[in-house]
Amino acid sequence: MRALTFHGVEDVRYETVPDPGLVDPGDVLVRVEWAGLCGSDLHPYFGREVGLDSGTVVGHEMVGRVVDAGPEVTRFSVGDRVVSPFTTSCGQCFYCRRGLTARCERGQLFGWVERGRGLHGGQAELVRVPLADSTLLAVPEGAAPELALLAGDVLATGFFAASMGGVEPGDTVAVVGCGPVGLMAVLGAREMGAQRVFAVDRVRERLDMAGLYGAEPLDALSMDVSAAVLTATDGRGADAVLEAVGSPAATRLAVDLVRPGGTVAAAGVHTEDHFAFAPGEAYDKNLTYRAGRCPARLWAEKVLPLVAEGRHDLGALITHRLPLSEGPEAYRMFAERRDGCVKVLFEVSDARV
Ligand code: ZN
Ligand code: ZN
Repeated sequence: MRALTFHGVEDVRYETVPDPGLVDPGDVLVRVEWAGLCGSDLHPYFGREVGLDSGTVVGHEMVGRVVDAGPEVTRFSVGDRVVSPFTTSCGQCFYCRRGLTARCERGQLFGWVERGRGLHGGQAELVRVPLADSTLLAVPEGAAPELALLAGDVLATGFFAASMGGVEPGDTVAVVGCGPVGLMAVLGAREMGAQRVFAVDRVRERLDMAGLYGAEPLDALSMDVSAAVLTATDGRGADAVLEAVGSPAATRLAVDLVRPGGTVAAAGVHTEDHFAFAPGEAYDKNLTYRAGRCPARLWAEKVLPLVAEGRHDLGALITHRLPLSEGPEAYRMFAERRDGCVKVLFEVSDARV
């Protein structure tokens, strides 16, 4: 099959690799229709996360149809359209029973193979999905597949961030970073009843999009963001700050923007060694800091109905729909935020037919 594979820093290739097959009796094989390019794909791409084997099929956002199923699979049959969260989960272990599917004892991240162990990704024509019954979700009738794909990661992660932030009706929320996760965090905060949502970024197109999803955009390039949030909250700061960047500067800004007793929820993937704020500062602010990988299986189920409902223009997020063959160029474009790029999807066609 054709797939995008990792070969080192800034080296993703479109090439032919062996077709995956069923390995365990609970596996299904999915023929991918749409695959997403995610901000977290850029961490190994730029060498900020290391360990990925050369030749690993990358990507962890995909929707497609089941083409083969192992004998223990009961919930899915050949032909079903399914969306996958970005990790697999067993549904039965200590963590899965508590809804923390991101920490499933048997869970694996798609697109991460290290020293020969792990799971190949979804930026490919075919993907093997282990623990299929407890991992996959059926795409509801009437939901466009490329929008259902968003439920497997960015939509789920955005809503999870708002939930970690403890957003309540009437709250004032600030979202730091208006990439796809930040934009969906805006939507999540609004859905959870936030009265005002401020969205911080430096890219005009992204700020405009945040406005579309119900935020008041704050351009960090041209204004004092902290002053604006303090002024809007009688000098207190935001009740919750949802940080969707994953950098020390974003953490620093989030802590500056939150009010005493408020919560900073970090949905960005962090790769640095130290917090950008001091323990004393946390104490003096009665700060709650929450972080972590989204339990995407849990949240995908919660947000998937929103996709079918069609109340929000989720499609506006998708700025680029490209063939898989343009993958290497798409990584570069996305990394450089070129061409108004917010969310890139690959429309995966079968190269053999
Ligand atoms: Zn992702
Ligand atoms: Zn589990």
